[in-house]
Amino acid sequence: MGLASVPWGHAPLMVKSMWDELNRRFTSYEVKVIFSLVAFFLGATPFDTPAVYSILTYTELKHDGYHNVRGGMYKIIDGIVNILLKRGVKFHYNTEIVDVKFSNGRVTDVIDQNGNPWSADIFVINADAAWFRGAILKRKAFCEPKLDKMKWTLAPFTIYLGVKGKINGLSVHNYFLGTNFKEYSSKIFKNQVSLQKPYYYVNVPSRANPEFAPQGSESLFILCPVPDLRYKPDWSDSHELAGNIIADLSERVDYDIANNLDTQIIYNPTHWQKMFNLYKGSGLGLAHDLNQIAYMRPHNTDEKFKNLFYVGSSTIPGTGLPMAVISSKLTTEQIVKRFNGQ
Ligand SMILES: Cc1cc2nc3c(=O)[nH]c(=O)nc-3n(C[C@H](O)[C@H](O)[C@H](O)COP(=O)(O)OP(=O)(O)OC[C@H]3O[C@@H](n4cnc5c(N)ncnc54)[C@H](O)[C@@H]3O)c2cc1C
Repeated sequence: MGLASVPWGHAPLMVKSMWDELNRRFTSYEVKVIFSLVAFFLGATPFDTPAVYSILTYTELKHDGYHNVRGGMYKIIDGIVNILLKRGVKFHYNTEIVDVKFSNGRVTDVIDQNGNPWSADIFVINADAAWFRGAILKRKAFCEPKLDKMKWTLAPFTIYLGVKGKINGLSVHNYFLGTNFKEYSSKIFKNQVSLQKPYYYVNVPSRANPEFAPQGSESLFILCPVPDLRYKPDWSDSHELAGNIIADLSERVDYDIANNLDTQIIYNPTHWQKMFNLYKGSGLGLAHDLNQIAYMRPHNTDEKFKNLFYVGSSTIPGTGLPMAVISSKLTTEQIVKRFNGQ
């Protein structure tokens, strides 16, 4: 939808918060909380995410609904990889780009961790578009102190469990929240509230895909939004935090999870940073503040090098899987426009 076709009556949604808009529409506290949770994946809290993003909840309820990928999300990646392999694309794994070489306004090579140069005519960067400009291209506007001042989406604390037995008290998607929602969500990301009784989300992959656990067992994925590494650099308390969550969950669903564990994997923001180069462990990249969206977001095209492009969550249009995919379409259009016929 083009911006011009959005009715002007919706303009105030750009400046008011999602929570204000929900307050206007609903009286039930629970409904307001449930509909506000999407904000955590876009900005930080429903109290500082623009109300315009309530369009996501609207679209989900009114149009597309919720889709479960049979076999799990990774099947999408497998599908894309298979198509690309058939088209002759070659993948080089475990290759980290640490530097670039350039001449005459063009990048000529990217350099990997072993000092090997990789040359090409056009480069598309999928690492975080803000981080790459700072750490690799050494742009002052994206140096660490500047990046630290930007707004980043939640850092994930994730737990993957294999549990013996079936847990009847759980659906596929479950949110476990406390009663101090506003105080908790306003303070959690700056590490100003105790993680003793955290809010968290539980997904039961084995419910939608029974092959994800042995018969009679359950696989659980738990996501707890936590402060990123700017506000909480030390995660030596990870096992304690996971224990708190598992104990709380056991009580709420009336099932002794701790004593029925087959497997347990814990990833804190340090792991997420290391695994995917996520800036300070921020799970979804740059937040969707008014000054970090559209033209104000790091562009899909590089400011200086004509043959350097970006895709992913910290460039345009924004965070999350669907938008990261749209970014690749926008970037492809830019590349075709610039290089078609050359
Ligand atoms: C726990 C968690 C749960 C999430 N849940 C959802 C959800 O339910 N729905 C949703 O829409 N989104 C969700 N997201 C967000 C979604 O996963 C991201 O927004 C999306 O994957 C971003 O895609 P991307 O291509 O920008 O980055 P990535 O998927 O991180 O891909 C970037 C790739 O570049 C590689 N890379 C980084 N730096 C370098 C380098 N220097 N050299 C070489 N390679 C490099 C990384 O290893 C990575 O493979 C979740 C994220 C997390 C962490």
